[in-house]
Amino acid sequence: MSADSPTQQIENDSLEDRLYTVRYDDPGDSHLDVKVPEVCAECETNDCVKVCPANVWREGEDGVPQIAYENCLECSSCRFACGYDNVVWEYPKTGGGMTFKHG
Ligand code: SF4
Ligand code: SF4
Repeated sequence: MSADSPTQQIENDSLEDRLYTVRYDDPGDSHLDVKVPEVCAECETNDCVKVCPANVWREGEDGVPQIAYENCLECSSCRFACGYDNVVWEYPKTGGGMTFKHG
């Protein structure tokens, strides 16, 4: 296959590699939380975990998600996905949050 073939396979960076290029100005406190942990413990859908593109929400052993807020892309998906309106979502206190790097 020639180098300029339209069918040549394009090697993309992995999602983890691309997420690594996102820089987050860490305020030291999480801008994400759950309102009532007991609601999460009873929740069977874990939609917050399913929709997050950055693997921020992770299923906890007690049913309450663990939140790696430093990886957040500020897309707000978790906020609206939770059918119990149980997500606390605020803008990071730094006001800067995350930045994307291109190229
Ligand atoms: S979807 Fe909502 S209620 Fe369910 S685990 Fe996530 S935050 Fe908790
Ligand atoms: S705002 Fe988006 S990236 Fe951040 S935790 Fe929620 S779903 Fe994940």
